[in-house]
Amino acid sequence: MLAVAGSADAVRETILVIEDEEDLREVVTYNLKREGYRVVATGSGLEGLKKACDEAPDLVLLDLMLPDLDGLEICRRLRLDPLTARLPVIMVTAKGEESDVVLGLGIGADDYVAKPFSPRELVARVKAVLRRGPVRSEDGPAERVVQGPLVVDSSRHEALLDGEPVSLTATEFRLLHFLASHPGRVFTRDQLLRRVLGEQVVLVDRNIDVHVRSIRQKLGRHRTLVETVRGVGYRFQDV
Ligand code: CA
Repeated sequence: MLAVAGSADAVRETILVIEDEEDLREVVTYNLKREGYRVVATGSGLEGLKKACDEAPDLVLLDLMLPDLDGLEICRRLRLDPLTARLPVIMVTAKGEESDVVLGLGIGADDYVAKPFSPRELVARVKAVLRRGPVRSEDGPAERVVQGPLVVDSSRHEALLDGEPVSLTATEFRLLHFLASHPGRVFTRDQLLRRVLGEQVVLVDRNIDVHVRSIRQKLGRHRTLVETVRGVGYRFQDV
């Protein structure tokens, strides 16, 4: 975040809202502005794409169902353009669009909120994604990750829970380290397969659920650290 010289006020980030439902667009705009964000809003996908370049937003709230260009296509185009390739995108979805969420996360959206959502929930998501910054998860995770009671240290190949070592298989270790490195972020099974098990093609069980189940067993009372996002995938709790 940039600070204005001589002023205690920080320049807040710009949020681009692409949403064709006018009422919702206004509510979202109002609530983001109240939080101090600069908001640029449009009901058109094509115009949204243009504004994503012209207005240099820090984050895009992207409705998936738009009259002219659907949200997934917009997300795809944003990722292809070097100007917007790293721009954080939160998809806004309707109930029952879980398969679109899976697709969207697969092409690089950062998160999603499902309608109906409360303004408070939306603002929390926006803040969380902005906090993660424009650095995409393609950048390697830190070697030592601390999340609540859990420490995962890849340099020592050691996982500690409440200070006690946890015995994990190599695959479980990689999976847990990856998830814990991206708290609050949802990953599809396919993403986890590619990102975590990518190089271990033949030797391991490619069923992510099996590994997650085993990890949870070993986390015992902290098993809820690894959350199931129904119809989508898995997420490490943002503790
Ligand atoms: Ca819509």
